[in-house]
Amino acid sequence: MHNIDLLIDARWVVTVNNNNDVLEQHSVAIDKGRIIEILPSSVASDRYIAKTHHQLGDKVLMPGLINCHTHAAMSLFKGFADDLPLMDWLENHIWPAESKWVDEKFVHDGTELAIAEMLRSGTTCFTDMYFFPDIIAKVVNQSGMRAAVGMIVLDFPTVWAQNAEEYIEKGLRLRDEYREHSRIKTIFAPHAPYTVSESALSQIRMLSDEMDLPVTMHIHETQSEVDQAISQKQKRPLQSLNELGLVSPNLIAVHMTALNDDDIALLAENAANIVHCPESNLKLASGFCPLGKLLDANINVCLGTDGSASNNDLDMFGEIKTAALLAKAVAADASCANANDMLRMATINGAKALGMSDEIGSLEVGKAADMIAIDFSGLESQPVYNPVSHLVFNTARDQVSDVWVKGRHLLKSRSLTRLDEDEIISKTRAWNDKIASHQNNS
Ligand SMILES: [Zn+2]
Repeated sequence: MHNIDLLIDARWVVTVNNNNDVLEQHSVAIDKGRIIEILPSSVASDRYIAKTHHQLGDKVLMPGLINCHTHAAMSLFKGFADDLPLMDWLENHIWPAESKWVDEKFVHDGTELAIAEMLRSGTTCFTDMYFFPDIIAKVVNQSGMRAAVGMIVLDFPTVWAQNAEEYIEKGLRLRDEYREHSRIKTIFAPHAPYTVSESALSQIRMLSDEMDLPVTMHIHETQSEVDQAISQKQKRPLQSLNELGLVSPNLIAVHMTALNDDDIALLAENAANIVHCPESNLKLASGFCPLGKLLDANINVCLGTDGSASNNDLDMFGEIKTAALLAKAVAADASCANANDMLRMATINGAKALGMSDEIGSLEVGKAADMIAIDFSGLESQPVYNPVSHLVFNTARDQVSDVWVKGRHLLKSRSLTRLDEDEIISKTRAWNDKIASHQNNS
């Protein structure tokens, strides 16, 4: 008999390993935050004495979801400006509101709200791009969640920095501070090719090569972004980025709705990663990312919700289903984007893009115990022929009952253990009143 911290029995363990194994009536043994064995439940209790033993019953245990693109603090702008195309939405609504409201407190409270929502939706790791990444990292640290915090870079002044040089310098300072942190990684996050100059981008490329760090950026979000670059520089943005050496395995390109066959070949040859954010693209009518073609080209595609201002939620289960349905429609092929492909996109593919696939993204021995339990006991889940199919096409986020990060129980029977839900709601209501009354008076 071995003494361990945690033993969890589940009707189904969906591993998302290389074989996409789904194990019935299995248990996951965890010690010091890591998975030490996955074995039949019938033998688990003879082998292990656990400080905590959960018998989940008719639930799925699976790796936590990885949301590869969001702007967490923008949760405070949820439903603030709807029914607008990207540039109108950004230039006439979001950027003015940000310059009015975004400060350290806004980022703190907005990020906390987002983390609470993400945990309650089964997300255990997210990639963020926003101002005050130092505050974002602080909130992530306190929450127990995992994140890749973006070192944001823009050319123009904001509350966080005055010019590209200062953004980069402040980002690197943050990186030094969190270098050894087990749950917080820092990555480069230049906003977009049309908001960051080539000189700043080439400096970022140099630093990313030196430190072997991912670079995430909004790229080819709309066809008009591409058309504008062609009329100004006679080049597609991806081409310019390639000339700067940025199209590489370290690139995490967000959106990518406007892609031609040459773009896809370039991304595939250089093993770049793509974050597909279907709901944001649909809502802003930005275009359709050709997911089927990307999968055929063996490109690593992961999923993101984008910020709550353009989605309007951080629900990865919703995103998975939307992505699957959209891919089938765009490809005019019902076999495109099958359930296993989609589940991988929401888990292990995100881990790969972030350079964290040795640590998270699947339930395998040696990996961190970042796991979620999903309740399949209710009427809406019956019958269950294939749990992976249900996770993609039939699961609502409120079926997420429990969440662990590094073996720490952060959501217990739908209650947050480290964040105070009532306090988050009341802080959010205060922001709601303040922002709404300003809108009404202006
Ligand atoms: Zn975005």
